[in-house]
Amino acid sequence: MKFGGTSVANIDRIKAVALKIKSEVEKKNKIIAVVSAMSGVTNDLVSLVKQASETYESSEYDAVLSSGEQVTSALLSIALQSLGIKSRSWLGWQIPIITNDVHGNARIKEIKKENILKSLDNGFVTIVSGFQGISSKNRITTLGRGGSDTSAVALAAAFSADRCDIYTDVDGIYTTDPRIVKNAKKLDYITYEEMLELASQGAKVLHTRSVALAMKYSVKLRVLSSFQNLPGTTVVNEEHNMEKSEIIGIAHNPNEAKITISIVPDKPGQAALIFGALADKGINVDMIVQSSTIDNSSTDITFTIPENDLILAQGILKNIQNEIGFSQVTSDINVVKISIVGNAMRSQPGIAKTMFATLANNQINIHVISTSEIKISVLVSSDYTELAMRSLHTAFSLDKK
Ligand code: ASP
Ligand code: MG
Repeated sequence: MKFGGTSVANIDRIKAVALKIKSEVEKKNKIIAVVSAMSGVTNDLVSLVKQASETYESSEYDAVLSSGEQVTSALLSIALQSLGIKSRSWLGWQIPIITNDVHGNARIKEIKKENILKSLDNGFVTIVSGFQGISSKNRITTLGRGGSDTSAVALAAAFSADRCDIYTDVDGIYTTDPRIVKNAKKLDYITYEEMLELASQGAKVLHTRSVALAMKYSVKLRVLSSFQNLPGTTVVNEEHNMEKSEIIGIAHNPNEAKITISIVPDKPGQAALIFGALADKGINVDMIVQSSTIDNSSTDITFTIPENDLILAQGILKNIQNEIGFSQVTSDINVVKISIVGNAMRSQPGIAKTMFATLANNQINIHVISTSEIKISVLVSSDYTELAMRSLHTAFSLDKK
């Protein structure tokens, strides 16, 4: 059972979570519960670090950030004990959850099971501080923002749990963000692959890596509300999915920036130089288009990166401008990436046509397009976010009846 920040936002909610765990204990289930920090706390900790110094060692940043989960795991354990249930809180290093040493975005290498197995066998509920581990250099690491979902799925996989229930502040996975499209509807089922695409294209409900991990280890994953007693959404393999609609969901990511490099001499190796320089500084490039002039003398390259990396990217490109000999770099942060996702795309023709025609009918200009087997993404001006999402939601018959 995993409880996110809003589910442990205050003592009353922590007590409510304790009651939920109690009801599972009464069904004779053995429970590992993973908690996030109280909502807002991790942001406050980030801000404290930045106030202490503009530059800092990422290992110390992790030591600060991981503290929010320490508080909630112990408070939840206390709340359970007050209900007469045996429980114990565990920090990542006490288990230990061993990660690599990429501070701020560490990956789990191994979970040692002995300590927890013993504790479960002795009848204790295990409460784990999410989002954290320990590196081989004996330093506390964090798994990246939103990473306690990944802690939960990794523990479920390591212990071959029957289920991994992610309790959150929404009652499941929706066809799109219900705050933007009021006709969004809740899905009973979604496949791992579809969930993975939706999460990586901006749907905030699950940490993307947690979905990849669940898919790899076939963890039975459910997303449900910690406030209401509703069935939620179950993430399944394709063959179990009874819903055959064309498109399952629409995601949006407003945190993209578009960069265009104009008049790049058209010869081999240029793209490798440009994207190599960005990769060396850890900038993740997402959508890319390149188009050459008719005589193949030069080419324009347009791509997107996270908005936060724009200043860094501009500096890097300036440094290589003379070497490569392009004419200029322009950028735009007033863009949003909108993606439609669905397994049916593999076999059904005409989905791209419907998407583009819908946008055209609404006078929405497309800057960049990218696709995968089960996804089409377009980059459009962010002024059109709502219009694009609502009209696509209707066009693909996703609206709630
Ligand atoms: N508390 C961490 C964060 O806010 C991890 C999480 O909530 O999943 O990013
Ligand atoms: Mg989260």
